Amino acid sequence: MDRRDFLKALPFIPMAVRSMDLNTFAQATRALKPGEKMPVLFMGHGSPMNAIEDNEFTAAWEKTARDLPVPKAVLCISAHWLTRGTYVTAMEKPPTIHDFGGFPKELFDVQYPAPGSPAMAEETIRTLKSITAQPDDHDWGLDHGAWSVIRRMYPKADVPVLQLSIDFHRPPQWHYDLGRELAPLREKGVLILASGNMVHNLRKVAFDRINGPEYGFDWAMEMKAKFAKHIRERNHAPLIDYTSMGEAAKLAIPTPDHYYPLLYALGLQEKTDEAVLFNDKAVAGSLTMTSVRLG
Ligand code: ZN
Repeated sequence: MDRRDFLKALPFIPMAVRSMDLNTFAQATRALKPGEKMPVLFMGHGSPMNAIEDNEFTAAWEKTARDLPVPKAVLCISAHWLTRGTYVTAMEKPPTIHDFGGFPKELFDVQYPAPGSPAMAEETIRTLKSITAQPDDHDWGLDHGAWSVIRRMYPKADVPVLQLSIDFHRPPQWHYDLGRELAPLREKGVLILASGNMVHNLRKVAFDRINGPEYGFDWAMEMKAKFAKHIRERNHAPLIDYTSMGEAAKLAIPTPDHYYPLLYALGLQEKTDEAVLFNDKAVAGSLTMTSVRLG
């Protein structure tokens, strides 16, 4: 039954089903069409509290999932899995990792029981031709860079989720190029979801401005505007060479852990992939939530 048939049948559908949001209905049924490629996402994840709090950012994550075909699996490149060498989670049941401190018990109680996919892990490793990535079946699982976002997108935890680690000893161009190698997975229905933050300086967070209207320091707003401009214009060279972007960039990216995921996503942008920005806002002075859908 497609959406039009659903609307036609509405008077005959029980009330409980009728009250279901139509977008939810679309999400539940739309599969990747033959020849269609899964879009690529960069998600600004921000505070781990976004896993359990409703706000404009989490609403946009939920909407993004509703607008996509149902993925065969999600491959997440999270800012929070930094390694020497490259690993892919390959367990049947990846554990939920609570890799943060100082948050309420409610957040530590969250479990996100999405299955893994050893077969897709193998396929991911095969797809990466320039390196020998290693399967990881005991060390990692799903860190909060992955589950805080993905549980909002797929609350039923019915889509397999894998993570690809970030080899933190490699230069920016290397990450951009490795991202590009993942391209064949898009045609196989894999949602490649890079999770970080473009502007991310935890030492300068204005803790009294975490909630409330947009608030960014001058340098954060300057970099937010530059990132958006370059992404919209497909001007990836300065984004790869971000260390040459001046003083504001040094404050925005004091360490590249939350920035490298963006390079994986941009590396995957093909000529036909339009870049659509959303959640393009600063919070707490020194973070931006800017997210991008490619394709
Ligand atoms: Zn983070």
